[in-house]
Amino acid sequence: MDVNILLSKNKSYWIAGIVAIFSICLLALTNSLTNSGEIKSLHFSTEYLASDKSTTGLGISSIKQEAGLPWLSFDGANIGLSDEPYWFRSSIALPVPNKHYLIEVDYGLLDKVELWFVEPESKAVVQDYTVGDSLPFSERPIQYEKFLFPLPSGFDELEVYFRIQSEGPIKAPIRVWEKSDFIEYSGAHNLFMGIFLGYMLAMALSNLFIYATTRNHTFAIYTGYVICFALVVATIHGVGFRYFWSEHVWLQQRAVAFFACATLFLIIQFSFSILSLKKASPLVYRVLNAVKYIFVILFFAAAVLPYTGVLQAILIMIAVTTPVILIAGISLSMNGNLIARYFTAAWAVLLVSGITTTIENLGVFELEIDASYLLMVGATIETMLLALALAISFSDQFKETELARAAAIENERQAMVAKDELLKVQEEAKRSLQYSVEERTLELEIALRELSEANNELERMSAIDPLTGLMNRRYFDKRLLAEMRRSRREQTPLTVAILDIDFFKKVNDKFGHLGGDECLKVFSRVLQDIIKRPADVICRFGGEEFVAILPNTELEGACKLMQRLRLAVEDTVIKFEDKEIRITVSIGVTSRVVESNDEQEMLIAFADKLLYQAKQSGRNKVVSDTF
Ligand code: GH3
Ligand code: MG
Ligand code: MG
Repeated sequence: MDVNILLSKNKSYWIAGIVAIFSICLLALTNSLTNSGEIKSLHFSTEYLASDKSTTGLGISSIKQEAGLPWLSFDGANIGLSDEPYWFRSSIALPVPNKHYLIEVDYGLLDKVELWFVEPESKAVVQDYTVGDSLPFSERPIQYEKFLFPLPSGFDELEVYFRIQSEGPIKAPIRVWEKSDFIEYSGAHNLFMGIFLGYMLAMALSNLFIYATTRNHTFAIYTGYVICFALVVATIHGVGFRYFWSEHVWLQQRAVAFFACATLFLIIQFSFSILSLKKASPLVYRVLNAVKYIFVILFFAAAVLPYTGVLQAILIMIAVTTPVILIAGISLSMNGNLIARYFTAAWAVLLVSGITTTIENLGVFELEIDASYLLMVGATIETMLLALALAISFSDQFKETELARAAAIENERQAMVAKDELLKVQEEAKRSLQYSVEERTLELEIALRELSEANNELERMSAIDPLTGLMNRRYFDKRLLAEMRRSRREQTPLTVAILDIDFFKKVNDKFGHLGGDECLKVFSRVLQDIIKRPADVICRFGGEEFVAILPNTELEGACKLMQRLRLAVEDTVIKFEDKEIRITVSIGVTSRVVESNDEQEMLIAFADKLLYQAKQSGRNKVVSDTF
């Protein structure tokens, strides 16, 4: 921030320097122009007749003849605002009679200028002209923005009478030129005028283009202001009438008022814009806003009301407005507002040149430098300073906008970062949730699997006979049903054998219950050794009774297998507590392709019946049959 102020201060020194040099150059140029005008033109003493009742009605014939009129010496100064006619006269002695001479009234805004060239001896009118900006431009003998008349040739001396009448200020700087000197002078003057108008046009156009691209209204106001101001100056110098509206005398009569009102209106509007006056100084804003509308009213008044009065009102309003704006500018400048400083400087320059011109116009005093040039110099410098103020203001605004945009982008970025972070956190939360869910699910699955394994184990355990390790009766029932279904479905023979150890009660009696249990264990092992097919099932049916399910097994094969089993049991010596135990087994075998599921009991009963037959027929036998 400090660096910025420092920089802008440095910059402002530069700018002040450039403006100062520029101003000095302009003033030097105007001074040399004024001087060359003074030096090269021929001066003759001029007298004027103060306008009063005795002179108002007089014509040229009375004026040139009558001796007792109160002629006053005239120093070329401004007579003031009056719409009464004034008479001027001058006696001209021409240094070289055969050269071409011109006589100039160096003020282009006079309504009506009547001129008579009178031969001094005979008092005869040699030539007369009537011109003025209340008459079309084309009626002028020489098409020039001021009033310029050729002197009749062939005279050594001439008297010139002017009758001048104007609603605006009456000024009559009368100069006589040798034609070639005038050409030199007017060339320089026109160059200056051209530079001024060109400069103003360039400022107007460049700011108009800036307005077109930025759409910042202040540039448009500035453009309008520069154009109107340039038109005021162009009007004062007669350039407007000469080049732009040469046939429109009505406009020419009021152009200064119109353009001055428009200029003031626009500069007030411009000051509102550039100084942010509404916020910075509400009181001044209200005052100037009222003044602004007064200028609108005066603009229209200039079109309809008597011009002299309106012009006076405008000058008074300008005298009121300019100090107000200046004071507002100074107070804002003192608060450190750089733009206000430029604005105030611009305004001060204009004020100095404008007040000087105005006062000079009102006829209070005479200046060394031509007052109308002074206004042009003031306008040029002011326009430049205002453009600077505008540029700085726009650049400040631009910077502010840039800062705001940068802040907005930063905010957006932060918002994005925050959003990303939030998303990340959400993602993280989701992932950890998912992870813990997966973990839990896995744990649950493991637990379930363990449970199911335990269940299976339990089931298996509940299906196993603890003593022999064979499947028990409960398992046998389920399995038999399953094998019967398969037999029926696949139409394969299902063989069921019931085995019962012979005289087991006696074994128990003889060797004790433990000896009996040992026999059951050994018998089971023999059973398992003989019946080996994976599909075959051996179960302990209860007590010393066993049952074998042999799926897809023919009765004949089954019988052979049972015989082998029977013999194996017979051959087995069971050792128990140093004693040897021998047992035999009786077997009932039946086989059948099952037709219906409720044949289960019938099948068991039939096998049991065959077992019974084996017991009956002497035990240690295999009895087989079908049904
Ligand atoms: P048979 O079958 O030849 O007609 O004569 P048995 O003596 O084997 O006849 P029964 O079926 O009447 O007797 C079976 C005996 O088996 C009764 C019981 O003492 C014995 N027993 C049953 N279960 C067990 C067991 O789990 N352990 C032992 N040690 N003996 C058992
Ligand atoms: Mg038994
Ligand atoms: Mg038995």
